[in-house]
Amino acid sequence: MVVSLQQHQTRVPIEFTQSAYETALAQYDRAVGKLKLDDNVVEYMRWPQREFTVNFPVRRDNGKIEMFTGYRVHHSTVMGPSKGGIRYSLNVTLDEVRALAMWMTWKCALVNLPYGGAKGGVLVDPKSLSVREREGLTRRYASELLPLISPHSDIPAPDMGTGPQEMAWIMDTYSMTVGYAARAVVTGKPINIGGSQGRTEATGRGVIICMMEALERKGINNPANTSIVIQGFGNVGSHAALYAQELGFKVVGISDIDGGIYNANGLNVPAVRDWMAKTGTVCGFNGASAVTNSELLTLPCDVLIPAAMEGQITEHNAPYIRAKVIVEGANGPTTTEADDIINDRGILLVPDVLANAGGVIVSYFEWVQGLQEFFWDKEEVFRQLERILVRSYDATVATAEKHGVDLRTGAQMTAIQRVGDALLTRGFYP
Ligand code: NAD
Repeated sequence: MVVSLQQHQTRVPIEFTQSAYETALAQYDRAVGKLKLDDNVVEYMRWPQREFTVNFPVRRDNGKIEMFTGYRVHHSTVMGPSKGGIRYSLNVTLDEVRALAMWMTWKCALVNLPYGGAKGGVLVDPKSLSVREREGLTRRYASELLPLISPHSDIPAPDMGTGPQEMAWIMDTYSMTVGYAARAVVTGKPINIGGSQGRTEATGRGVIICMMEALERKGINNPANTSIVIQGFGNVGSHAALYAQELGFKVVGISDIDGGIYNANGLNVPAVRDWMAKTGTVCGFNGASAVTNSELLTLPCDVLIPAAMEGQITEHNAPYIRAKVIVEGANGPTTTEADDIINDRGILLVPDVLANAGGVIVSYFEWVQGLQEFFWDKEEVFRQLERILVRSYDATVATAEKHGVDLRTGAQMTAIQRVGDALLTRGFYP
C-alpha cells in the first residue's frame, strides 16, 4: 500500500515574512545595482541553471512504502563543479533550495573556491525516521541524484538534519554504482572513510573567527566581558558556542527548536552539550532560566549568532535586538527589511556568505585531500581556514568601504563581480 507523505507529516508552522528566494533576489538586486555589470550577465546570474525534483519510495519499518519528495538545484557552474549541502527538514521547498543554491554560488566565489553553487533537500522530519529508514531514504535519494553528482560535477555536503553518516551512505551508494571507492563525491564524511580533520567544527569555528574580526573593528576586545547569544545548537551553533567558550567568551543564551536557556553569568557550554546529548534538547538545563526563541533574539548581549535557519530576524524583531554585532551562522536568517533596520541602528552584521563559509572551505580541503589521497593534520586545516576567512573578511570590508555599503552588499558585490567576470571570459554557450 502506498501512503502519501502528507498523511504522515505536517509542516512545522513557521511564518516567513519574505520567502528565502525573495530574500536572495532582493539581495542580488541590491548588489548588482551598485556594480557596473553587463545587463546580459546580470540577467543570466539571476537564474538557477538546473532544478531537479525527485519523488521516491522508502519502506518504513512497518513494511509500508511511503513516498518522499527531494530537490537538487544547481544555481551556477561558472566557477567550477557545483557544491552545496543537503537538508532534511519539513520546511524544505523548491523556493528555499533555490535560494540556498544561489547563496552557495556567492559564498564559494567570495572565499575564492573553484566551485559553483548548489543545494539539495528532502521534505522529511529526520527525527521521525529510524536509522534503517534514514539509510534507506538517503541511499534512494542519492541514487535519484546519480545523473547529477560526481567528484567533478556536483559534490554534496551536510546541512540541517544531515551529517557525516548521511554523507557516508551517499558516498557508498555512488561508489557501488561506479564500481570503485569515490571518496571525493561528497564532503563532510566521517574521517575513517576520507573525511577531513576539522570539518565537523569548521563552520562554527569560522563563525567565531569572523566574530573576532568584527569585534576588533568595533573596539570590543575583552572576551571575558563579551556576551554571546546563539540561536540553534546543532552542528554550527554548538561548535560556535564551544569554540567561543574555549577562547574565553561568555555564552549567555542558547536555543534549539524547542526553546532557549539564558544565564547572564554565562552557560557552561560543554555541560549544555552533554545535557542535549542526554535529553535531545537544551531546554530544562540546570542553572539557566527558560526563554522562548523569540525572546532569545532580543536578549541583552554583545553578539547575536543566528545559527538555526532562514527568516528569523525580521522587521518585527530587528528594532528590539540589543546585540552590537550579528554574525550569521545560518544561511539567510535576516530578511531584507530587517537588514535595513539593523544598518540604520548601527549594528554590525557579518553576512552568512562570509560568516558560515568555514564549512565549505574545509569541505574544499576535504575534496582536495580526497582527490590527492594525501591527508592533512588538524592544525594545518585550521591554519588554512583562518587564512582564507580573514582574507575574505578583508576583501569584503574593502568593497563595502569603497562603495559605502553594508558588509552583506560588499560581500555579494565582491562575489558577483568575480562570477560575472568569469562568465564573460568563458562566454555564453553556444
Ligand atoms: P543542524 O540540523 O545541525 O542544527 C540546527 C539547529 O537549529 C538545531 O539545534 C535545531 O533544533 C535548531 N532549529 C531548527 N529550527 C529552529 C527554529 N525555528 N528556531 C530555533 N532553532 C531551530 O543544522 P546546522 O548544520 O547546524 O545548520 C544550521 C544553519 O547553518 C542552517 O541555516 C545551515 O544552512 C547553515 N549552515 C550549515 C553548515 C554546516 O556545515 N552544517 C554550513 C554553512 C551553513
